[in-house]
Amino acid sequence: MLDNITLNIIGTVLSPYKEKFAIPRQPGLVTSAKGSIRLLGEVNNIDVVRGLESFSHIWVIFVFHATQHQGWNPLVRPPRLGGNKKIGALATRSTFRPNPIGMSLVKLDSVEISKQQNTNHVTLNISGLDLLDGTPVLDIKPYIPYSDANTDAIASYAQHSPTPTISVTFSEQAKLTLHSLEKTYPELSIFITQILEQDPRPAYKQQSKDEKVYGMSLYNLNIKWRMTSLTAINVISVEIQNS
Ligand code: SAM
Repeated sequence: MLDNITLNIIGTVLSPYKEKFAIPRQPGLVTSAKGSIRLLGEVNNIDVVRGLESFSHIWVIFVFHATQHQGWNPLVRPPRLGGNKKIGALATRSTFRPNPIGMSLVKLDSVEISKQQNTNHVTLNISGLDLLDGTPVLDIKPYIPYSDANTDAIASYAQHSPTPTISVTFSEQAKLTLHSLEKTYPELSIFITQILEQDPRPAYKQQSKDEKVYGMSLYNLNIKWRMTSLTAINVISVEIQNS
């Protein structure tokens, strides 16, 4: 009996999310997140994507590469259950699973073919992603609504998307920086707002007073913010990181 197999990485994700903290917990929650998938090796071939542009959404099958070394446990605590209740790893979408494989449904904005030094490069431009920069991709499949969407499905603790309960404001300094970055990163304030509305803090932090100043990395930016009440976040500063 076969007990292991080798898979090839067919692409790499280019994402504004440079660290795990603050990545939305599922795709589609932050619709303004824009990234891409660069195809690699023999899959970097315009024939492989012929016809794909006629689909509005794709499944991205990928490896949780940044956490795979941490292994897994049979029981996990989903944030949607407040981080207190344990359920089986296979009853969750946790990153910690027997095989570190994830699947995300994202919007396919365009299929881009560019030519560099006589070689074609195939890039899939996507939005609504929940993927870390550099995520290795194992497969791409078109989303087929008649089969992939089931309106009768029962989904336990995750029946509905989480309702954002957080309001987000920006300091005058953050507003000025965002204004100066408008050309490079259009809609950055909408992007930051959508991320923070989801409250990226660990579930156990969400019910009590929290005076911590948090930082998150998006693109080459370091964004600092803090809670001003149980349901309000103020973005203190947006700074360009020196690489
Ligand atoms: N939609 C996928 C699924 O259901 O398989 C992923 C769900 S998982 C809960 C989403 C989280 O995975 C994100 O919030 C982020 O923290 C984490 N993540 C994204 N890309 C990752 C990567 N390459 N390695 C490790 N963790 C990653």
